[in-house]
Amino acid sequence: MIEIRGLTKYFGEHLVLDRVTLDVAKHEVVCLIGASGSGKSTLLRCINRLIEPDWGSIRLDGVAVEDPSWGKTGLQRRVGIVFQSYNLFPHMRVIDNIMLAPRKVRGLSRVEAHDKAMAVLALFGMERFARAYPEQLSGGQQQRVALARALAGEPEVLLLDEVTAALDPELVGEVMAAIRGLKAQGLTMVIVTHEMGFARDLADRVCFLDGGRIVEEAPPGALFNAPEHPRTRQFLERLL
Ligand code: ADP
Ligand code: MG
Repeated sequence: MIEIRGLTKYFGEHLVLDRVTLDVAKHEVVCLIGASGSGKSTLLRCINRLIEPDWGSIRLDGVAVEDPSWGKTGLQRRVGIVFQSYNLFPHMRVIDNIMLAPRKVRGLSRVEAHDKAMAVLALFGMERFARAYPEQLSGGQQQRVALARALAGEPEVLLLDEVTAALDPELVGEVMAAIRGLKAQGLTMVIVTHEMGFARDLADRVCFLDGGRIVEEAPPGALFNAPEHPRTRQFLERLL
């Protein structure tokens, strides 16, 4: 579904992604782990073209992400993204936050967009908060709304960038449970996380990034129990 080849990105003189090659199959969940600054967010953001790489290619279902055939919003429709800071519009009710993109990007009618929004809220047990404003919700609830909003666009790939990092520990579980539900439905996901338990539990494959390179890539059992690369070992040991 996603084919990344030789992806290279500089910020000024600083090499941030160094010839990254990665394939993600349909229905697969790939977790990216690594120290802060190793390039995880940059890699994720190249996939939906929030960042343009300097070299290399990314194809989605065989079509380059920069191909003009995607049009203005085609790629964003196919590839959803959720960030650590939920980025909900504070002046809009939950339901309106979720209806916005389906109305604008997909041209759904009010009724269609409303039905869709309620359906995705229900998926995360959040229907009763439809009329609430973001500030009336806990962090975990806001993050579940952000996930619902991303799903309302019916993406084929979902990118998650440390979506539990800003949450109080007791709220992390509810968001993880929501993401586990998405995996059960077969959604293809690339997930940046610093929660190793979550990666171990959820990922089909884990990639360890160090200095802009994927230095090790393996199923979670192998990577966490028997890391081969010294940098991976060092990183995991530091977390103990
Ligand atoms: P991670 O998500 O693994 O913490 P990032 O992809 O955010 O890493 O960042 C990788 C490196 O690129 C870091 O050194 C960071 O400071 C740098 N960087 C990220 N975004 C920018 C930017 N917009 N301009 C300049 N440097 C950046
Ligand atoms: Mg990051």
